[in-house]
Amino acid sequence: MLDADFFRRWMAAAAASVGREAQRLTDLDSAIGDADHGINMQRGFTAVTAALAEEAPNTPGAVLILAGRQLISKVGGASGPLYGTLLRRTGKALGEAAEVSEGQLAAALRDGVDGVMKLGGAVPGDKTMIDALVPAVDALGEGFAAARAAAEQGAEATIPLQARKGRASYLGERSIGHQDPGATSSALLIAGLSAAAES
Ligand code: ADP
Ligand code: MG
Ligand code: MG
Repeated sequence: MLDADFFRRWMAAAAASVGREAQRLTDLDSAIGDADHGINMQRGFTAVTAALAEEAPNTPGAVLILAGRQLISKVGGASGPLYGTLLRRTGKALGEAAEVSEGQLAAALRDGVDGVMKLGGAVPGDKTMIDALVPAVDALGEGFAAARAAAEQGAEATIPLQARKGRASYLGERSIGHQDPGATSSALLIAGLSAAAES
């Protein structure tokens, strides 16, 4: 079973890897966007870390709802409301339980990803974060390591795609040949699950 502490470790692992990879995320966004994705994610997860330290939510759902709220209010890019919705919707689906199973987390994340697709209108193949998140949720039944591998493969598979949503879509065919920054950060977020499970 996964308790609030697991979810705090998940957010801490995500914050750490976003910090480590911020330059890479910004470089990817400079190729097909406006060169701020690393900065946006770092600002958001710094706020998540501070809020979790201050408020110490004590259920899995409350951890994710608080984290999602920070991302929505602190990130001034498309990714903030989208990631905020992902975490908030996932947190709401987990309810008020003190501990949740991996199966419950998989179902809740599915809800969260559906919320992102509804808000942003992206479907798989549009070269967005959805291309990492959907395969990750599909693989989650096989464990966190499988979800992590699926997310990383999904992010790499955005390279040959033409963007149909977000800023990169303005480039048309010129978006082809570059890995999507949001799919890359989604793979970091999902990798945080296996890091939380191991620590
Ligand atoms: P902005 O584009 O506003 O500068 P970011 O650079 O932080 O925001 O985030 C860009 C990422 O957001 C993209 O790489 C893509 O993965 C994701 N994204 C953008 N629009 C959408 C959308 N409509 N649906 C899903 N993901 C999206
Ligand atoms: Mg950007
Ligand atoms: Mg921007």
